[in-house]
Amino acid sequence: MSPENTNEDAALELPSESAGDAGPENQVGATAAQLARQILANHRISLGSRHPSGVQDNATPDREIAATARGEQAARSSYGAAPGGTVALDRRMLQAILKLAETYSFHITELAGGSHSAGSRHYAGIALDVGRINGSRVSAGNPHWRAFIQKGRSLGATQTLGPGDPGHSTHIHLAWPRATTPSGDAALPESASEAVDMEEAVCCEAEDGDPDAPGSAEEQLESVLAVLEGERARLSIVGRSLLPEEQARMDAVTAAAFHVREALTALSGPDRLS
Ligand SMILES: [Zn+2]
Repeated sequence: MSPENTNEDAALELPSESAGDAGPENQVGATAAQLARQILANHRISLGSRHPSGVQDNATPDREIAATARGEQAARSSYGAAPGGTVALDRRMLQAILKLAETYSFHITELAGGSHSAGSRHYAGIALDVGRINGSRVSAGNPHWRAFIQKGRSLGATQTLGPGDPGHSTHIHLAWPRATTPSGDAALPESASEAVDMEEAVCCEAEDGDPDAPGSAEEQLESVLAVLEGERARLSIVGRSLLPEEQARMDAVTAAAFHVREALTALSGPDRLS
């Protein structure tokens, strides 16, 4: 991280009474780094360590919170619609994560990383996705998701999506208004009834719930098959005859894909792949 990426308020160690204008929801005076350290220490908050896409980078929630705890900005991803670079995670969101953990245990699948809609609030460090609440994956049948969203709204989230909203059947999306000051101290909404602002198309990467929970054998084989097919596609678009080593790799990948398909068919029947 270069010095200009340092979170500007990270070095401040304000005593709580110095932040007299903070509201009761405001973890009075805490800096982003302090809040991030509290999140790391809170066992009710689980942080994703890889993206649902399978891409590995340093913009996963565990690394973003760790960077914030060190007084650095959080990395963003550089694939798909993601813009790359870094961003400060918003204090309002970090405070809300800690407040939510007073009521729920939950798993965060994305913060500023991953690939979402162009212009998504994720890239501004003001949105989070949750794939599991109190040990249960988010779905229409999860008994906690509605109250979780309500609590998020009472903590200032103005863009809230979950089961029933397109693309959000398996995760909750909470986003805060874009900050009006660089330090993220924009006022909380006057009331929880503030209209959800839906000016943006919202699609999040975390379509598969909790990416860290092991899936069924079939699900894992399907992911392997997707990787192999991706590799076959990559090799086949080079636009020329394959070099001998490329052809050997193509043959190996093709054979592996064949066997994975066979395994999938054996486990779940031929309809699985139709
Ligand atoms: Zn989201």
